[in-house]
Amino acid sequence: VIEVAGLTKEFGRTVALHDVALGVQPGEIVVLLGLSGSGKSTLLRQLVGLETTTSGSVRVLGEEVPSLGGRRLRALRSRIGFVFQQFELVGSLTVLENVLTGALAGLRGPRLGLWAYPRRLKLVALGHLDRVGLLDRAYQRADTLSGGQQQRVAIARALMQNPEILLADEPVASLDPESSDQVMNLIREIAMEAGLTVVCSLHQVDLALSWADRIVGLRHGEVVLDTSVEGLSKAQVMEVYGRVATSTS
Ligand code: ATP
Ligand code: MG
Repeated sequence: VIEVAGLTKEFGRTVALHDVALGVQPGEIVVLLGLSGSGKSTLLRQLVGLETTTSGSVRVLGEEVPSLGGRRLRALRSRIGFVFQQFELVGSLTVLENVLTGALAGLRGPRLGLWAYPRRLKLVALGHLDRVGLLDRAYQRADTLSGGQQQRVAIARALMQNPEILLADEPVASLDPESSDQVMNLIREIAMEAGLTVVCSLHQVDLALSWADRIVGLRHGEVVLDTSVEGLSKAQVMEVYGRVATSTS
């Protein structure tokens, strides 16, 4: 479902990605592992056309992303859920309204207030909130929730369009260890239930090893590791990163 080849992305003189190749099969759960500045966010953003590419090919769900514009790009994005490090909820709206905004791309015109959404969608949104364990918070303002709860709302929002692929950019970077585990487990469970393909960036080696099926390691914009986690040890991962990585566990 994802086929990246020879992808290079430069910002002025900074080479954020260099000759990256990445193929992801349907249903795979992949971690993009790398230190700060290694290009994780840039790669994820390229997959949904949030940035132009300098060169190379980025095929997602059969579409060549860099060549898409307007309608076709929106159509592709509606098949992909995105979860960010900063949950990016609208704090002044209720939890349920935030989840419903995940369906906006499929609706005409802006939607202000709960009444503006079809009942059918509200039921779907409540179902997703139930799935992430926050049904009882539906009518609370989003900014009254804890970080872990807000990220679970963001996951529910990402599910609104029935995505085929879920991209998550350091979804637990601003959470405490306990909420991190909860959010990561939830992502994995939902992915397995729905047969979702997941690409999730992380900088924690231990978490990546325990959570992913496969790890793709980035370093200075290059893929330096691409392997199943089966039989992979932390020492082997560290070896690839050299001494710089010892501070990232
Ligand atoms: P982090 O773990 O800190 O989120 P990352 O692995 O996501 O890091 P990226 O954000 O992809 O790294 O950045 C890769 C490189 O590209 C960095 O050197 C960064 O400074 C550079 N970069 C990213 N976005 C831009 C931009 N819009 N303009 C200029 N340089 C950028
Ligand atoms: Mg990043």
